Amino acid sequence: MSDDGLKKIISHAKEYGFVFPSSEIYDGLSAAYDYGQLGSELKNNIKQYWWTAMVRMNENIVGIDSAIFMHPTTWKASGHVDAFNDPLIDNKDSKKRYRADVLIEEHIAKIEGKINKDVTKAAKRFGDDFDEAQFRSTNPQVLRRQGDIDGINAKFKAAMDAEDLGAVKTLIEDLGITCPVSGSKNWTDVRQFNLMFKTELGAVSGDSGAVYLRPETAQGIFVNYLNVQKSGRMKLPFGIAQIGKAFRNEIIARQFIFRMREFEQMEMQFFIKPGTQAEWYSHWKEARIKWHKALCLGEENYRFHDHIKLAHYADAACDIEFNFPMGFKELEGIHSRTDFDLKQHEEFSNKKLRYFDPETQESYVPCVLETSIGLDRMFLAVLSSALREETLEDGSTRTVMRIPFGLAPVKAAVLPLIKKDGLPEKAREVLAKLQLHHNVQYDEKDAIGRRYRRQDAIGTPLCITVDHDTLEDHAVTVRNRDTMQQERIPIAELNTHVDELVSMASLFTA
Ligand code: ATP
Repeated sequence: MSDDGLKKIISHAKEYGFVFPSSEIYDGLSAAYDYGQLGSELKNNIKQYWWTAMVRMNENIVGIDSAIFMHPTTWKASGHVDAFNDPLIDNKDSKKRYRADVLIEEHIAKIEGKINKDVTKAAKRFGDDFDEAQFRSTNPQVLRRQGDIDGINAKFKAAMDAEDLGAVKTLIEDLGITCPVSGSKNWTDVRQFNLMFKTELGAVSGDSGAVYLRPETAQGIFVNYLNVQKSGRMKLPFGIAQIGKAFRNEIIARQFIFRMREFEQMEMQFFIKPGTQAEWYSHWKEARIKWHKALCLGEENYRFHDHIKLAHYADAACDIEFNFPMGFKELEGIHSRTDFDLKQHEEFSNKKLRYFDPETQESYVPCVLETSIGLDRMFLAVLSSALREETLEDGSTRTVMRIPFGLAPVKAAVLPLIKKDGLPEKAREVLAKLQLHHNVQYDEKDAIGRRYRRQDAIGTPLCITVDHDTLEDHAVTVRNRDTMQQERIPIAELNTHVDELVSMASLFTA
């Protein structure tokens, strides 16, 4: 899918009440979005899927909900005040602002695109005999292009490690990167830009009352490490999970809900014994990719991307990337953060943040393995893989959102075939039985075919039709969104039937 694909998603999301631009009557606010009546249901379901997998299904993980405002020293200790920066560059002709690292990444993505084209061409030429791995490791053109990519990555890493922003600018110039708007290479110097939003607490003005809107939820977990460990009598290894808002003054925030200035994160910090990082890193990589793949959004849409430039505190880090309409981009990060965070908070707070190991009778600062996923990005992943235009057997087309049943915002629609003969009353009886368990809609307007289309467009898995026979046989017709097959189900068995198909549990048992 392309940018055009993203446009379709944005307009569909708005038309059906998933996502609206924020304060739209005032022409919107850049990089802020509101979730509508269906969007908030979908978002809640994604949260619940994550919370169930992380907190409920793991005896040794608990969840918290910490404040957005934190003591300002938190951000000194975490390194955000000094180093939560992005390298910024402006094009002097278009006056457009870019992240220097993103310009370089996009340049690399273009070369990767060329490699993929080489591979596709060769696959066509060689047919069944084609060995992609061999081609990639021996074809001179592919090797040259890969060499270019490695060279760029190495130069960029060296420049950033040395905090040499001049070298980053030189790299952009040497690569001949042009501004997508003006087409020119007339760049300013690269500068660092801190992404934290600052505000004031109470009536105090000036720096003494300065607080920040948290740029990540993780620090709320670190500062509560000891509270949770002691009050919950937690033994290592154990995890603390949290879902909440985070704020970043992103230099450029486009691509819809992919990059926002106010967004939501689902983070889990897993506290472990020092020395066991490698083991837990691979455990969580596996657990998290399994969670994603259980949604069946397409195995080919995920890949791991190892970080080449590790943050100073990390000893391993990777992203799970998803094939968004704009290409493969970060959806979730998995980071082995060593004992950096707790040690920093020990130092800045002057409080011991240790674990007393009853087995070894030692006391130490635990290491941390973190999984961090953007809820809004997850939402976009679901939406972008779900939205389809399908041509049916009779040649007609339908717009359908193939949202995983367990996540769908509306699980079923109850539809009386016509608006008289006691069918609406019977339908409302059926509705009342289902409502306690699931989010269900009632719709009696328009012909049944049009009602099916409306439900397809919002991704409702089941349409339940009440017809004249229902009054006699106490059964309804249940239509499946994906197969469009219809089955007759006795009303007495309807709850169980619906539950089996659409409950969140189905995502864990598939
Ligand atoms: P990026 O490189 O895309 O800026 P990041 O590496 O800074 O992301 P992390 O700090 O690892 O991101 O944050 C964890 C997760 O939070 C990301 O994987 C992403 O899903 C989400 N996230 C980060 N920034 C944003 C944002 N501005 N808008 C929406 N989601 C975000």
